[in-house]
Amino acid sequence: MAIGDVSQPAGLAGYHYVDTGMYAVPEYGSVYLIDDDRPTLVDTGIGADIDRIFGLLDAAGVAPADLSCIAVTHVHLDHAGGVGRLLTECPNAEVYVHDIGVDHLADPSALWAGTKDAVGEQIQFYAEPKPVPEDRITGITDGDEIAIGDRTLRAHHAPGHAPHQVVFEVPEDDAVFTADAAGIYSPSTDSVHVTSPPPQFDLEQALADVSMLRDIDPEWLLYAHFGPAETEDRLATYADRLEAWVADVAECARTRATTRRWSSSSASRSRRRRRGPRRRLGRRSG
Ligand SMILES: [Zn+2]
Repeated sequence: MAIGDVSQPAGLAGYHYVDTGMYAVPEYGSVYLIDDDRPTLVDTGIGADIDRIFGLLDAAGVAPADLSCIAVTHVHLDHAGGVGRLLTECPNAEVYVHDIGVDHLADPSALWAGTKDAVGEQIQFYAEPKPVPEDRITGITDGDEIAIGDRTLRAHHAPGHAPHQVVFEVPEDDAVFTADAAGIYSPSTDSVHVTSPPPQFDLEQALADVSMLRDIDPEWLLYAHFGPAETEDRLATYADRLEAWVADVAECARTRATTRRWSSSSASRSRRRRRGPRRRLGRRSG
């Protein structure tokens, strides 16, 4: 799929998604539209690629004034960066986000400052987010349901990636919008990768979130990065990858700590040598 293309998942009627071209990379950022009584966007992309979201609405035959619901999985700007911009063109859209994220959408200044610190030069791909009027935001929490017509979006809190994250289950279609709770899916290689962890990442909770998804046992995973896939063994694979990755990071940290201990202990040995005759050294720890 190329940047800007709009596609419909085979087997999921009423769903459309666009390749937003996030970070100028194809097949990395997807935004979904569900065409129901209340046309609904799930996530909004990074804000700079807003024209592609309007391309998605256009391809699905939904006028901006008819967009009714913007369901945001979490407030990280690659998911929620476009909300404020969309609302100026979509006067009847209401925004849903976890309670913890409401203030960040209403006043995105801290989010913008934090993102600039975190992403460095990649900030060139972002647009500064616009504040979202508070009277257009509904805070949601675990178990809340958003009725959009024939379907329901059921929120499940998934705070391992970020405390303000939910995944949205659509029970009528046996599908889940996975946000950043199920890793990154690459359709061209048909593989799942670990999402780079944000500052508030919590491994135990991230694994619990994958277990929660496995308990829902959906037929479809609708990845934010990137695109729809049948679940098959992808959640188990992701849990394995996550554990292996964390073990690697812990091993690296241990190696670094050992190297530090070793070099400080050899430095003190050479200081002792300079000071006087060689002494027997005790067994080095570690
Ligand atoms: Zn995120």
